[in-house]
Amino acid sequence: MDADPALAQARPSSSLFPGPAKQRSWEDDLTTLLEEALRRIPSGRVSPAFDLAAFRADLAGFDFTAPRPMPDVLFWVISRLETGLVHLTHPRYFGLFNPAPSFPSQCADRIAAAFNPQLATATTSPAGVELEAHVIRAVAARAGLPDGSGGHFTSGGSEANATALICALTRSNPSYAGTGARAFSGPPTFYVSSDAHLAWYKIAHQAGIGREAVRLVETDTAGRMDTGALAAGIALDRSYGRVPVMIVATAGTTGGGMIDPLHACSEVARTRGLWLHVDAAWGGGLIASDRLRRALAGIETADSVTIDAHKWFATTMGCGMFLTAHPDVAAQSFHVAQDAASFMPSNDRQHDPYVTSGQWSRRFLGLRLFLTLAVAGWAGLGAHVERSVRLARTIRLELQARGWNVVNNSPVGVVCAEPPPGSLGARRIVEGVVASGLAWVALARFLGREVIRICVTNGRSSPDDVDFLVRLLDSQAVRTVTSMPFTRLQRGECNDRTQ
Ligand SMILES: *Cc1c(COP(=O)(O)O)cnc(C)c1O
Repeated sequence: MDADPALAQARPSSSLFPGPAKQRSWEDDLTTLLEEALRRIPSGRVSPAFDLAAFRADLAGFDFTAPRPMPDVLFWVISRLETGLVHLTHPRYFGLFNPAPSFPSQCADRIAAAFNPQLATATTSPAGVELEAHVIRAVAARAGLPDGSGGHFTSGGSEANATALICALTRSNPSYAGTGARAFSGPPTFYVSSDAHLAWYKIAHQAGIGREAVRLVETDTAGRMDTGALAAGIALDRSYGRVPVMIVATAGTTGGGMIDPLHACSEVARTRGLWLHVDAAWGGGLIASDRLRRALAGIETADSVTIDAHKWFATTMGCGMFLTAHPDVAAQSFHVAQDAASFMPSNDRQHDPYVTSGQWSRRFLGLRLFLTLAVAGWAGLGAHVERSVRLARTIRLELQARGWNVVNNSPVGVVCAEPPPGSLGARRIVEGVVASGLAWVALARFLGREVIRICVTNGRSSPDDVDFLVRLLDSQAVRTVTSMPFTRLQRGECNDRTQ
């Protein structure tokens, strides 16, 4: 063999692949910087007071010509993120379903990053694929799905929901795999409540059946799907030659946390021969609690279920799950022929995720929930869920005691509230709270009204944080009348938080 004389000189890049001592020192830097930043966050602003122009100018300095020292860059990135993000780890972030990530799930991310296993096939990562399958089976069993159920981890709820639609279409008409929507005798349709997640439109678009395939079913006065209207809508669509394929029951609507009537939806689906998908992206967290899980009764009858671990199970993002009683349909929907993928080490419709799911290269997401469940157990996760429901109930009661109107009645601990008559509107109050940096809440629409949406998503939020939020909301609501309560609140309780 001819020696390549340059090769002897061409050592591995020490910035990309440092030696053990250097790597250890960078790891220590990283740990210290993160620890310090995260320790400061609870006493700082929840939402950024961010100078985007200055940041852009800083960024422009990174022209990637002269390499910079790793510790400097780590410091720069972490300090900019500290001031340039809405902080989900802040105990007064009462926001969308994004969690403060549990520590076990952060460890899982680090482990996955170090080995960087490829989970496309069980041949390449037998331990990883088997571990994920074990967690999926455990979650499916906990949700009450039948023996033999399966599924896989997804990038989030949207991918899991998209998977459900492809499975429903494929089972309804196997020719969909070959000829797409043209395989149907008329336009395929599926049914979601008018409070369902908006991503269904994108999902229908991507599946090639078009956004008009999303049929919105009206809700009852509590914000749950009206199953009479569902049955009528299906019959009407059929009379026009459309081809209904799936009913989606949302278990925990994104806005108001309402759970569609699962048994009734299931009955409509069964009698009409449609796939029943339960979108429990957030609300599915209730399965962890022995006390609260009965709110999801009926979920066990679903053909498929979405649960996001990166919502109520507090893993890092994105980590969703697609669970199904029909793993064979998923394999039928996502298969590729062996000879077409000859570079792949195997093509096993039982075990290889790349032929049973939408992804090809696959990150080791399941480890996050595995580590979480292994160290906390269902009891620990259940206690986490119950705690956030309890804190939400306190928010509801405290607001009501101050004359606020709580518009929703959700078992999953999302509070949608309106200020007392004569106050500023919900939108102005949310803007005031967010601008103050003292807490974070969202504006939402529920039953056609603009409401303040409050959700406990941080396992470290305390009764004091909840109390603080209630008084902040109340002081913002009456700000037109007198600015006193707000001023007193800031001076008395958070001197250093408003700088
Ligand atoms: C969050 C959510 C989704 C979307 O999930 P992502 O993880 O954000 O992709 C879908 N449905 C419901 C009910 C949700 O709450």
